[in-house]
Amino acid sequence: MIRVMQSETLQLDALSFRRALLKWYRANARDLPWRRTTDPYAIWLSEIMLQQTRVEQGTPYYERFIAAFPDVHTLAHASEDRVLKLWEGLGYYTRARNLHRAAKVVSCDLVGAFPETAAELQTLPGVGRYTAGAIASIAFGERVPVLDGNVIRVLSRIYNLDACTDAPKTREQLWEIAAALVPARDPGDFNQAMMELGARVCTPKVPLCVDCPVMKHCRARAVGVELQRPVRKQKKETPRREMVAAAIKQKGNYLLAKRPQNGLLGGMWELPGGAVRNGETHQRALTRELKENFGLCVKPGKLIASVGHAYTHFKITLHVYNCELVEGTPAAKGHEETRWFAPKSFSTLALPKVVHKFLDQL
Ligand code: SF4
Repeated sequence: MIRVMQSETLQLDALSFRRALLKWYRANARDLPWRRTTDPYAIWLSEIMLQQTRVEQGTPYYERFIAAFPDVHTLAHASEDRVLKLWEGLGYYTRARNLHRAAKVVSCDLVGAFPETAAELQTLPGVGRYTAGAIASIAFGERVPVLDGNVIRVLSRIYNLDACTDAPKTREQLWEIAAALVPARDPGDFNQAMMELGARVCTPKVPLCVDCPVMKHCRARAVGVELQRPVRKQKKETPRREMVAAAIKQKGNYLLAKRPQNGLLGGMWELPGGAVRNGETHQRALTRELKENFGLCVKPGKLIASVGHAYTHFKITLHVYNCELVEGTPAAKGHEETRWFAPKSFSTLALPKVVHKFLDQL
């Protein structure tokens, strides 16, 4: 059983909760492009794009994607470079590669027909329990729950859960609570309403309880501990890495390296370089990295710019130096390939955000 702070007499009236929530949602839901359709392709695209991404940031990407790839077949037949280019700036690039792989499965193996149940949807690359629940309930009306950060927050407050929501056991219990709440009728609307409530009313730092349609059901609010819910694991301090990169110019072109498909920023182009080791100078790190990983002997020159960027689990500062190529032919030991590009063609390449920040500084 979920441990709650209130007595057992405070059982949730699920019927009244659902009714109040759905009434509020139908009157207040934002008019978002993927809410105007039940096309599973569009819903799948929006759900993948909105993982770890705010609606305001994800919407223009969604619109560009739908315009470029109006159905699963066009996406399946697009080149990975084009997909990554359209994804550029949205981060978490594994999502884009999995999206592309899943489109190929649906287009070729399933002849364009999306699986219709959450269980089957989870067999597609990049489709986890949450995404499968969202697509199945919204596009196909299956009575299955969703559990994302917003829903976790709402449920933790409604039930006043004092267990750590990062613990796998609590997570599983939250899935069970969410499943019990989903109605048989309009499960997709209900799931979207829970997420909408978390995004717009039951916000992390300043929940708008006075505007909340389900306040009378909220146990945390009743005892004034809503800001202490959900209980989270204490975050460790994000480590910072120092990186160096070389701007090597030859006949007006710059050398770029394509990152390996699997892993962080897979398939994207970047300036050759690497991490600065403890006690190393930037110049030493540059000559070592370029030698070890690209087979090049370079002479570092002036610092062009230093830019910072935060990834999920670490932050980096990238220092870019002008470098003169002394000898060697570019090899790609830890990368997929290296190539020379004219600056005007940079706009056609999928580049990590940190490289864009550097180009902006230039
Ligand atoms: S009453 Fe406040 S804390 Fe409770 S669900 Fe509503 S917004 Fe969230």
